[in-house]
Parts: sequence; C-alpha cells; structure tokens
Amino acid sequence: LVASLVAKEDTPCTTQDGIELSLLANIGVPEEVEAVAKHGFAGVGLFRTEFLFLESLERPSVQTQVEMFEKMAKGLDGQPLVIRTFDLGGDKLPPFLLKEESETHRKLHLRGLRFSLAERVLLEEQLHAILQVAQTSDVHVLFPMVIGGDDLSQAIAVVDRVIKKFGFLRTPPIGAMIETPAALYALDEILDLADFVALGTNDLTQYMLATDRELEAGKNDCTAMHPAVLRAIKQVVLAAEKHQCPICVCGEEAGDADFACLLVGLGIRELSLSLGRGVVIRKALHGINSQEARETADQALRCQNPIEVRKLLAVLGTSVA
Ligand code: PEP
Ligand code: MG
Repeated sequence: LVASLVAKEDTPCTTQDGIELSLLANIGVPEEVEAVAKHGFAGVGLFRTEFLFLESLERPSVQTQVEMFEKMAKGLDGQPLVIRTFDLGGDKLPPFLLKEESETHRKLHLRGLRFSLAERVLLEEQLHAILQVAQTSDVHVLFPMVIGGDDLSQAIAVVDRVIKKFGFLRTPPIGAMIETPAALYALDEILDLADFVALGTNDLTQYMLATDRELEAGKNDCTAMHPAVLRAIKQVVLAAEKHQCPICVCGEEAGDADFACLLVGLGIRELSLSLGRGVVIRKALHGINSQEARETADQALRCQNPIEVRKLLAVLGTSVA
C-alpha cells in the first residue's frame, strides 16, 4: 500500500485528458515543509505566518524570521515558497501587540493588510526578512485581505522602500489574496498591480454569504459550493485570464475532492491545500475529463443552491468524495 501511495504522489498531476495541474501546500508551521515534496506537492502555496506568533509575548525579530524563512526555503530545495504577511486583527491579536493603538485598530476592525499598514514597523520588519531570503530563493510575497488597488499599492510601496533601504537587488513576485467581496469589485485595479492572486475561499465564502467559516462542514449549506461563490470564482478566473495573471485557489475547500474538480471546470489550474489532502485530490483530478468538468461547472453556475450543485456533480459522475 505504501509503495502504491508513493507511486501516485510521484505521478504528475493531470486530468484524464492530460491538462496539467499544479498542487501546492497550505502550511502554518515551518517544519511542515519537510512533508511537501514527500506528499507530491510542487511547493508551498500559502504559509500562514501569523500562526506561530499568536501566543508570543515579544515581537519576532527580523533575525528570527530570516532564520525561519531560510530554513524553510532550504527544506523546499528550489520549490516555490509563498509567504503571506501577518493576517492579524479582529480576534487574532498576539500578546506582543496588546497595546493601546492595537486596541484602537481592533475597534476599527482593521484586519489583514490594513492592520499591517497601521502596524508599519511590524510590516517593514517582516518584509525585510522575507525580501532578504527572496534574494537567493524562490520566495513570493502574499498580502491577505486586500480590498482594492489602494491598500495593495500602499503595501507595494512599503516593499519598494524596504528594497531600497537595504539595497536588495531582486523584487520577488507580489500577490494579493482575493477573499473579500470588495476585492471582487476591484479586480482590474488589483490585477494591474499584482504578479499573482490567491483566492481564499474560506473568507470569501464567509463574507459573501454572511456565514461563519468555523461552522462544522456538513451542518452548513452556505459553503464555497454555493453558486454565488462559484460565480465569484469564475469572475476572478476570467479577470485573471484577461490580465494574464497567475491564479491559485488556497481556501481549505480546495482539499474537498468534489470542489477541486469543480474548480478545474471553472478554469483553475493551481490549487493549494492541506498536506494531508494531496493523494486524494490528485486521484480525484486524474479521474476527470476537463471538458466534462467544464460543462458541469457551467451548469453549476446556473444553479440556485449548493444542493443542486452537489446533485449535478453526482449525476455527471464526477462525484469522487
Ligand atoms: C482563506 O480565507 O480562504 C484563506 C486561505 O486564508 P485563511 O484560511 O488563512 O484565512
Ligand atoms: Mg483568509
């Protein structure tokens, strides 16, 4: 059994009709990079940097972050590493940030990139560390909770300043997460500025459908399978195609076999998912024909609720859950 699993992990990820797909890993702990290649992933599509520091009493130093990113890049041995800047704010406030102005930020509901822009020193130090490692490794920078061209261009200006200040020579690819409804209405602005986009279906679903992402799966019909979310994904795919901008889906639902097949039908070719889902998703995607998946997705876009979408998947024989 182990031998057959290894063989499947080694096989390139393609659909039945040979469309090449790329599977990347979502990770929250640096040590997880060791399992990335072993599970057959092509690199890290999302490293959630805030996870490690949520309980920290002290702000992580630049050196601590450099050492961590360097070790991760080394462990990935040339594979890409997408480092997302801290997605803090709301209820994600580490003890080292519990001071008066952070409390104000919380009350202002600053989140993700806007929180970082308000906590400028923290952002600059993190970018210093990321950019330093990006000089010699395939590191990409990703900003969370982008709401438009304005916050993204402010963030890019900080990147440019840090690059100048430290005399770095290489600017790594800079990406924006599309995970707020506002971003859907600012796609052209964002895609003009970004080198790549990462679609976060966890937050996009939560904010589009006024639901709670923590609700237990199966007890909630308001999932990413809802046609409204599917239409939003299609809209992002079309806009990204128009701008020739690479796009990856990195919400946890990319690890659901049915949903992953639907994503391919919607035109997605790169998925980032939890390490443990690699084999299942590779197998599911290898079982579908891209043209059939596309037809299924086109019909799903015309459904009115997720139950109809699931029925469609079953009828059309792409249900692989
Ligand atoms: C998302 O919102 O889909 C996402 C990938 O980011 P996170 O789960 O870290 O909020
Ligand atoms: Mg998110």
